[in-house]
Amino acid sequence: MRNGPQADDEGPEVDAEEPRVDAEGPRIDDGGPRVDDGSRAAPRGPRVTDHGGGIWSIPVPIPDNPLGHTLVHVIETDAGPVLIDTGWDDPTSWQTLADGLTACGTSVRALHGVLVTHHHPDHHGLSARVREESGAWIAMHAADTAVVRRTRRSDRGQWLGYLVEKLAAAGAPETHTAPLRTALAEGRGGALPGARAALPDREIEPNELLALPGRRLRAVWTPGHTPGHVCLHLEEQHPGNPAGSGSGSGSGSGDPGNPGGRGRGGRLFSGDHLLPTISPHIGLYEDPDSDESTDPLGDYLDSLERIARLRPAEVLPAHQYAFTDAQARVDELTAHHAERLSDLRALLSERDLTPWQLAETMRWNRPWEEIPFGSRNIAVAEAEAHLRHLVKLGRAEAVPGSTPVTYRATG
Ligand SMILES: [Zn+2]
Ligand SMILES: [Zn+2]
Repeated sequence: MRNGPQADDEGPEVDAEEPRVDAEGPRIDDGGPRVDDGSRAAPRGPRVTDHGGGIWSIPVPIPDNPLGHTLVHVIETDAGPVLIDTGWDDPTSWQTLADGLTACGTSVRALHGVLVTHHHPDHHGLSARVREESGAWIAMHAADTAVVRRTRRSDRGQWLGYLVEKLAAAGAPETHTAPLRTALAEGRGGALPGARAALPDREIEPNELLALPGRRLRAVWTPGHTPGHVCLHLEEQHPGNPAGSGSGSGSGSGDPGNPGGRGRGGRLFSGDHLLPTISPHIGLYEDPDSDESTDPLGDYLDSLERIARLRPAEVLPAHQYAFTDAQARVDELTAHHAERLSDLRALLSERDLTPWQLAETMRWNRPWEEIPFGSRNIAVAEAEAHLRHLVKLGRAEAVPGSTPVTYRATG
């Protein structure tokens, strides 16, 4: 990793002398077994990728999860390397992160800060350990910091109680809530996942440039997947795209008058907001302390538009792989949700349905009977998010006096 002053905002930040981890640098995919003499082979996994211009990604595994890994990004700054997300809290994941940083020519101890796109454990899981070992600060949007604070103080009993109440209100059958009620009655304790998550010490302010010496990175608030999700826009010319154009995004030949400047080109760290082939989960913002009727799907669709307007030359997401055509992906996701909304409204115009019945009737990637217990809770939250949005659009309404609440089409 290069030391010394950073290139200025205008120039491409490619340093010809710098070894590219992807090409010649140490690899972390040799997959050998651990040995006991203190040295050890690195775990199996994809290689660290050098994206150029002082940006790397490290695929940090998520154990037993089909997503496979979180792409933790490393940004070189004049004050030391900064991470975007940290990965799942697991010994193998930790080791992969540490080895990945070595492959980038740095170390955990050298880290200056951590920017967290959102509070989910595959993004924020290792932040506490990183801070412990390096003294790095941790920054997050206030709305997700509030979720972290709430999760740290609530226990499993409170959470189970909230879940049972919510599922019953959505029309979940007794057979679905019974195991939860039993667990609640038996006082089965234990910490909630996320109970040990680090409380951030800095706030990511939307639209502000982050205090990263030598870099131009702006926070873009993109609520939807979580209430405080942020994307981070690197407003520097793309090292592989000197014209600074939004490649393939329908922006034509770019904007020669504003190369790599604000609102055009550059690179976008998109977290879970914009992924190449996965549609991120949009449920309800779970807040037992609030009755506020939020519209996460509406937030998400607005956030998608906001991202498309930036016309990034490249998107560096937190899962899967980097891609270029942000606008095309935004269009696909917008169309996907529009189709879902119109399907749901069609179902509601046939008969009144509770959110649970709607989830049972909606199209999923497999038949409802094959969807496991925990995933049904996620499915019903997704159905409710779409319902909320239909209600906001004036295209559906709750039937007055119905318990559990049923919805019907309007307009
Ligand atoms: Zn997430
Ligand atoms: Zn994720």
